[in-house]
Amino acid sequence: MSQKKTILVTGGAGYIGRCTAYVLAQNGYQPVLIDNFSTGRRAMVGELTCFDLDLTDRKSTLEAFRKSQDVVGVIHLAAKALVGESVEKPYEYLRNNFLSTLNVAEAAAMSGVCVLHSSSCAVYGVPEKLPILETTPRSPVSPYGAAKAMAEDVLAQFVRHKGLRALNLRYFNPAGSMGNGQYGELHEPETHLIPNVVGAFLGGKPIRVFGSDFPTPDGTCVRDYIHIEDLVGAHLVALEKLLAPGSLKVESLNIGSGKGVSVKEVLEAASSVLGGKVPHEMAPRRAGDPAELVADIAQAKAILGWEPKKSLNDMIRDHHQWVTGRAKKLL
Ligand code: UDP
Repeated sequence: MSQKKTILVTGGAGYIGRCTAYVLAQNGYQPVLIDNFSTGRRAMVGELTCFDLDLTDRKSTLEAFRKSQDVVGVIHLAAKALVGESVEKPYEYLRNNFLSTLNVAEAAAMSGVCVLHSSSCAVYGVPEKLPILETTPRSPVSPYGAAKAMAEDVLAQFVRHKGLRALNLRYFNPAGSMGNGQYGELHEPETHLIPNVVGAFLGGKPIRVFGSDFPTPDGTCVRDYIHIEDLVGAHLVALEKLLAPGSLKVESLNIGSGKGVSVKEVLEAASSVLGGKVPHEMAPRRAGDPAELVADIAQAKAILGWEPKKSLNDMIRDHHQWVTGRAKKLL
């Protein structure tokens, strides 16, 4: 009987990590998680194997790779991931995200496995032109974005000097849930727009709309929201390309929907999908928020043969399903 290929998923007990592991398992891989449970949830691990370790520790990172059998790749998602918090705590963000990636890169190069790295549109900072192409110069404005750019650079050095195969997927704004509401986003505190909008609809605090004087059509920030199922689908095809040596000629790909949506438009969509008012109030701009971030996804479409299929309404509906179902039992 042939062994399943093992994929290590760092940050595997978190939102995107656990959704990715779910889809890997569905597609015949053996996902093995690595998490330090700083924000990931033990209850989400379920039947999967998980190394409880801190990736900033070189020795335990190398050991986890050595101990795992039949590993062919690592999907590296583990990171501190809140832009606003990173402004408050630059040392923690730069240290954690840089060292983790350095250790993952070394361990992957030593084990001869490929790395699919979860990068971010935060590496672009405030882009001069929209939509954002991968060739747009990186110019991060937050410590979070800077740490992601540093992580990309670390991987590039191992690609150049150690023959590592690696690809950066620069995520825009993932949202929604997977597996019929079994896997979704649950942060404490929650800072992301769609979970906060659904939370406000369900009777939480009214959502604060951060800024209504941006140079956008309705004055609120425009972002590129992508359904988690589409995002994870991109990982699967990217992984398959990475596993076929020589088939990938790029270092980074944007993963978004390619469509810009304003905060007001999210509120309107939520009212209509959920069938009721979403209490909200206007608030000052949030520090570090660029007016508009929208991906050009032509490269991802051409190179991966991938295309996002789900809508903003799906993201809102699916987040609502998760948060009123399984997520309630986890709190
Ligand atoms: N936002 C908002 N109220 C909230 C959360 C977010 O107005 O409670 C806005 C935020 O200013 C940004 C957009 O929604 O313009 C998306 O924010 P999110 O934190 O979801 O993602 P980011 O783009 O910062 O990674």
